[in-house]
Amino acid sequence: MTNFREKYGAWALITGASSGIGAEFARQLAAKKLDLILVARRKNRLVKLAKELRAQHGIEIKTVPLDLAKPGFLKTLLRQVATSNVGLLVNNAGFGIAGSFTDQPLEDELRMLDVNCRAALILAHEFANRMVQHRRGGIIMVSSVAAFQGVPFMSHYAATKAYDLILGEGLYHELKRFGVDVLTLCPGATATEFAQVAGGKDFPQAMAVAPVVAEALDALGKKSHVVTGAKNKLSVFATRLLPRRLTSYAAMQVMRRLGRSGRA
Ligand code: NAP
Repeated sequence: MTNFREKYGAWALITGASSGIGAEFARQLAAKKLDLILVARRKNRLVKLAKELRAQHGIEIKTVPLDLAKPGFLKTLLRQVATSNVGLLVNNAGFGIAGSFTDQPLEDELRMLDVNCRAALILAHEFANRMVQHRRGGIIMVSSVAAFQGVPFMSHYAATKAYDLILGEGLYHELKRFGVDVLTLCPGATATEFAQVAGGKDFPQAMAVAPVVAEALDALGKKSHVVTGAKNKLSVFATRLLPRRLTSYAAMQVMRRLGRSGRA
C-alpha cells in the first residue's frame, strides 16, 4: 500500500471540502496521515470537519473559506498557505446546472465555468510548477462520466467536465517524467449535495462517496483516469462503441427520466 506522506509530502489541498466527495477525500487522506488544507465557501462546515479530523488523526489542518469563482482567489489562497508545501492537490470543487440551456442566466453558466474549469486550471498550474521543482507530487482532477458525451439539459456542465478530463489526461503523461502523478476521477451519480445544487431531486441508485474516493486514491499513480463503479465503467465503455450522436441521445433520455429537461 502506498505511503502517501512519503510519496507526495505532508500537505494535501482539497477544494470543495465542505461537502460530498471533497469532504470524503479529506476523511480518507486524514486517515493516511496527511496534513490538510480545506477550501470551500462554507467556513462553518470546514471548521467542523477540521475539528473532527484533528481529534481523530492528530494531523494539522488549515481551513480556507474561499469563493473559487472570484478572479483573485489564488492570491488570497497563497497568502494563507504559503508556508505549507502542497504535495497533493485535489481539484474537486464544482457544481452542475440542470435544465434547458436557454433558460439559464449566462452569469450562472459563467460562474460554473470559473469554478469547474478556470479555478481547476489555475490551481493545477500553480501547484504543478512547485511539484515539478520538487520532483514529486500528485494532482487529482474530479471530472465525471458526463465528460464522455454531450448531455442534453446539462450540456454546459458536461462540457466543463470534458475540459477537466482532457486537461488531466494530457497532464498525466506530461508530468509523469517529473515524478508527478495525475489522475482524473470520473464518478457517476454519487450521493452528495450535487443533485440538489444542480436543481433537481437526488439521483436514484447513487454510489456512496466512500468507495468513489477509495477507488481514486487506489488508482493514483497507476492510471490516468478512473471511472468509478462497475455500472458506470460499462456505460462509459459503451460510449466508445456507439456513434457519438447516439450516446448523447441516450444521455438525453436519462435526463428526461430524471425530470431535468426544463420547459417543453
Ligand atoms: P457537493 O456535495 O455539492 O460538493 C461540491 C463542493 O464544491 C462543495 O464543497 C462546495 O462548497 C464546493 N464549491 C462549489 N462552488 C464553489 C465555489 N464557488 N468556491 C469554492 N467551492 C465551491 O457535490 P459533489 O458531488 O461532492 O461534487 C464534487 C465534484 O464531483 C464536482 O466537481 C462534481 O462535478 C463532481 N461529480 C459529482 C457527481 C455526483 O453525482 N455527485 C458525479 C460526477 C462528478 P461550498 O458550497 O461550501 O463553497
